Amino acid sequence: MSLLTVGSVAFDALETPFGKTDKIIGGAATYITLSASYFTPTNNLVAVVGDDFPQSMIDTLVSHGVNVDGLQIRQGEKTFFWSGKYHNDMNSRDTVEVQLNVMENFDPIIPDQYQNCQYLMLGNTAPAIQHQVLKRLTNRPKLVVLDTMNLWIEIANADLKSLLKDVDVLVLNDEEARQLTGDYALVRAAASIRAMGPKTVIIKKGEHGALLFHEDRIFAAPALPLEEVFDPTGAGDTFAGGFIGHLAKTDDLSFDNLKRAIIYGSAMASFCVEKFGAERILNLTQDEIQARVDQFVRLSAFSVEM
Ligand code: AMP
Repeated sequence: MSLLTVGSVAFDALETPFGKTDKIIGGAATYITLSASYFTPTNNLVAVVGDDFPQSMIDTLVSHGVNVDGLQIRQGEKTFFWSGKYHNDMNSRDTVEVQLNVMENFDPIIPDQYQNCQYLMLGNTAPAIQHQVLKRLTNRPKLVVLDTMNLWIEIANADLKSLLKDVDVLVLNDEEARQLTGDYALVRAAASIRAMGPKTVIIKKGEHGALLFHEDRIFAAPALPLEEVFDPTGAGDTFAGGFIGHLAKTDDLSFDNLKRAIIYGSAMASFCVEKFGAERILNLTQDEIQARVDQFVRLSAFSVEM
């Protein structure tokens, strides 16, 4: 099934306890589409960059089967820039700088050939832009998945609440779930979010895995304990790309398959954190991905003596 992704394509500058990078390629939609490319052949991107964005990276996306007809390149303007610094535990980070540049007045135009996509991934960007994409699709996709962040919960709360009424799945981290609902208990926070619109809520907890809330059921996915987490940037987006990529590939929205999708997402995220930026998810093989999924299965499998 076809997938459409909207979100940032960016330059990032990162600092972790292991080192520092100058401008490298980042952005939510970059990570999502690269990750999803291992699952679905029809992978459409809507985003905007400036003329400073390297053609070689666009070629890399294309070589992963990403359709870039919806990637606007604005002449004379600069690409969105974000820089972040991680604390020692790598679970928390500070945004050091944001330069909106081309994102400031991004008008997400949907190419005709993207209409009728069945799976829509609204990657991190302003909720008003995410909503615009959904409204511009002639037919509502079968599944709409939304990612957001603390910034939008803070400065675009009304837009976000209005968008939430129209989405099926919200993916966010534990701190964001607490911030959005004012509830510290994640089970109650998930119930409040479900009352806002999405029937499925995924709460990511960094190195502690992710929780899936769907109807009256909960599934807890572990994160793979890794010896070294080099750079968590993009892990959330890579998770989302693997999650929706698996669903678009299998076209099965049962609870059992949502659970599998979360494990595929977690496996993809576990690769992402092993190197700086998107480097580790550029050249994966299906065998490597499957071996990692098998590790997840073994990690929490147990039997109970009766
Ligand atoms: P994650 O680590 O999964 O939360 O995603 C990190 C990515 O989000 C980086 O590559 C950034 O370029 C991107 N990002 C950070 N802030 C924003 C923002 N305000 N809007 C859109 N994308 C952002």
